[in-house]
Amino acid sequence: MFKIGCHLSISNGFLKTAKTIIELGGNTFQYFSRNPQGGAARSWDQQDFESFMEFAKYSGIEVLLCHAPYTLNACSATPSTRDFARMIFKADIEMLEHFSNALYNFHPGSHTGQGVEVGIDQIVEILNEVLYSEMKTTVLLECMAGKGSEIGRSFEEIAEIISKVKLKDKIGVCLDTCHVYSAGYDIVNDLDGVLNEFDSIIGLDKLKAIHLNDSKMPFASNKDRHEKIGQGTIGLEAIVNIINHPKLRDLPFYLETPNELEGYKEEIELLKKCRK
Ligand code: FE
Ligand code: FE
Ligand code: ZN
Repeated sequence: MFKIGCHLSISNGFLKTAKTIIELGGNTFQYFSRNPQGGAARSWDQQDFESFMEFAKYSGIEVLLCHAPYTLNACSATPSTRDFARMIFKADIEMLEHFSNALYNFHPGSHTGQGVEVGIDQIVEILNEVLYSEMKTTVLLECMAGKGSEIGRSFEEIAEIISKVKLKDKIGVCLDTCHVYSAGYDIVNDLDGVLNEFDSIIGLDKLKAIHLNDSKMPFASNKDRHEKIGQGTIGLEAIVNIINHPKLRDLPFYLETPNELEGYKEEIELLKKCRK
């Protein structure tokens, strides 16, 4: 099955959001665990959750991706910011444990001048604190474009984090096509080469989700500006190769393109048409 969806607001609850993604032609969605700029989580609505689970069963929604807020920075130089990250991680994972197979994506963080090695150790410290062996949620490190002091700009940095995490089976990777292209991985001209590199450094078994975005910025620019599918520097042909690639095609794909619902609907339709 082609698992395709987009980022949606969950402000009307899980059931309504699920109905929206079905209307858009998709079968999975990404949502923010809380306001992306930080702050309080939505209160848990058990009734809504149960209605959603029922709806998901017969509408073919198999997996959800929850995105941590952008303000979560596990490797900030400011200790209180790291404490906030720890707190958000714990609370979000606890919420996601209601599901049996949720994915929880986060930006590894920005070391804010401490250096990559210190940053990686701080991320690992928090992960080793919040992951536990009975958990059913998989936590995903998102590949980043590499702006500023962002960690996760290379497969090596992601691999180093994973290598230091104790519960490795709780950790995976989310590949954002816009980010990796900006980070200097040429998924347009050498997708096989990039996937081989990913496999030898991280392991393709760790890849659990794809953020499917075109880019407004040139290759290797380290800039993070998403573009609509087919209208950016990555282009439709490369995107079509990605959704059909034998090593990627079974993963869930999430659009994070600059669109309203109507635009997402058109992109989902287009991608379904291009799916072989
Ligand atoms: Fe992200
Ligand atoms: Fe992304
Ligand atoms: Zn981005």
